[in-house]
Formats: sequence, structure tokens, C-alpha cells
Amino acid sequence: MFCDLHMHSTASDGSDAPQQLPALARAAGLAAIALTDHDTTAGVDACARACLDEGLAFLPGIELSASPQQLPGRREDGKTGTLHILGYGPRVPGSARLVEIQQRLVQAREQRNPEIVANLNKLGVAIAYDEVLELADRQGAHIVGRPHIAQVLVQRGYVRTIHEAFARYIGEGAAAYARKDRLPPEEAIEVIHGAGGVAVLAHPVQLRRTPADTEAAVAWLARLGLDGIETRHSDHSPRDVEHFEQLAKRFNLIPTGGSDYHGSRKNIPLNNCRVAYEAFTRLREIAEKNSSTDERG
Ligand code: AMP
Ligand code: FE
Ligand code: FE
Ligand code: ZN
Repeated sequence: MFCDLHMHSTASDGSDAPQQLPALARAAGLAAIALTDHDTTAGVDACARACLDEGLAFLPGIELSASPQQLPGRREDGKTGTLHILGYGPRVPGSARLVEIQQRLVQAREQRNPEIVANLNKLGVAIAYDEVLELADRQGAHIVGRPHIAQVLVQRGYVRTIHEAFARYIGEGAAAYARKDRLPPEEAIEVIHGAGGVAVLAHPVQLRRTPADTEAAVAWLARLGLDGIETRHSDHSPRDVEHFEQLAKRFNLIPTGGSDYHGSRKNIPLNNCRVAYEAFTRLREIAEKNSSTDERG
């Protein structure tokens, strides 16, 4: 029995609606899933209902974009990498603070996205931010991300693929890139805990650090109260998986994993990491315990 604990819907930057994911997951042979949209839990209720229909076990989730600047260890190329903290089993819509953080992260995007479009315009790429908003709106997105910008670039013929859009224009270090760091990692972990959830470091390989610096970063996050680490992820090589399993043991973190499915926006199938069902039950048990000892509703 397998689970997939990392997937995105149209509520953020995936291409399948949250209510469509469970049927796809069942067809992929999965017994349990978690929906982990970027910075929003808006798709959780629809996904939970469809999981009931499909006979799949479900865990609500969120993937918070945290700022990597304070992490120990540096990338040699001067870039900061990506720090995403997954929250499993938070109450939905959540604690007042989780709701407030989601609003803050939407504002960070509302500030950054037009900056990226302005940078594109300066490079002679004549798209309007309204086109991005319309595209995101049409699919029911609750957050607007770079993949939406990338899709407009594809539709308008400036690039052939989403991947090319990131490589040429909007990936970190590319000509039109702009940052949107608003959430310190300790706050991301605290807010997940405050909503009864379990905090897990997503795709540690995306920190883009040496193994020693990755270890230092994981040690630092573990001291802040991190509960788990994504050992299996579609970006992880077999060597990465082995390394992150060692870190999980060393820092007493729950090993989890998932595909990071985004539908047609990334060519990664569901269940491609073959994550054992046990990862799901461990997260659910802790989240249930957190919620029953936490009376704040
Ligand atoms: P944002 O949160 O708006 O900065 O956008 C980040 C998202 O862009 C990630 O969650 C991925 O879904 C997507 N992404 C990042 N890099 C790439 C890439 N090279 N190719 C395709 N999608 C990417
Ligand atoms: Fe994404
Ligand atoms: Fe991520
Ligand atoms: Zn993700």
C-alpha cells in the first residue's frame, strides 16, 4: 500500500481541480493522499469529500513558502535556494494565525508578481499582469504563482515550455526573477503547530546546498521544532534519498514523501516515489494527538 503526501491542485499551481485528484490517485494505485497546495488550504474540503467517494484516506495539508535567508550554510553561486515547509493535518480553515499567514503570503505574491511582469516587459516580453490574473482566475486559483506567469509566456509564444520559461526568464537567477520572502522559518513551523499540524521540510534538495550545509540547515530547523523531512521526492536521486534518510534518523525526524504532482504543469506522475503507507499513518496519528490536546478550536 502506497500514499502520496505531496500534490498540488488548481487552488494553487496544479492543473487538476482538488475534487479531481482523488480519482486520479486511485487510478495510480494509491491508498492515501495529502493535498499540499502552496500557501492555501482552499482546496482541502473539496479534495476531502472526493476522497470519501473514492475510498481513499486523506490528510489536509499546506506547503508554506518560507524565507531561506536565515538558514545556515550558503550556496556557492550566491543563490538562496527554496525553503518550503509542509504542514500536515492542520485544522481547516485553520487557526486565526494560519489564516492570517495565508493572507500575508497572498500579499507577498501580489507585490512580487507584477515585479516579475515589469522585469519581463523591460526585456521586451510584452505580457500584461492582467493576462496572468485572468488565467489564474479562470482555473479558480487562490494563489497566483510563477507557473501561471510561465503558462502565459507559453500561450503567447515567448517560450515553448514552462520549463523554458523558468530557465530563460523567471527561475531564481534568471533575468526577470524577483523574490517574495515574507515568512521566517520559525514562524512557518509555529503556525503549523498552532493549527494542530505536523511540520515537515519539503524537498531538501531544493535548498541547493552541499551535503554538509544541508545537514547544518536541517539541524537548525530541527531545533526550531521541525517534525519531519521529505526523504522521497521526485527531485531526489537515490543518493539524496539515502542521505535524507540518514538525516531523519540523526535528528529524529519522520521520513515522508510524495511526487509533488502539479498535473500538466510538471511532468511528474502521481505515486512515482512509492511512499510507504506508514508515512501517512504516522503523520495522521501525530496530527490527531496535536488536535486533541489543543483546545483552541
Ligand atoms: P512561486 O511560489 O510563485 O515562486 O512559484 C514556485 C513554483 O514554480 C514551484 O512550486 C513549482 O511549481 C514551479 N517551478 C519552479 N521551478 C520550476 C521549473 N524549473 N520548471 C517548472 N516549474 C517550476
Ligand atoms: Fe508549485
Ligand atoms: Fe515545494
Ligand atoms: Zn510542492
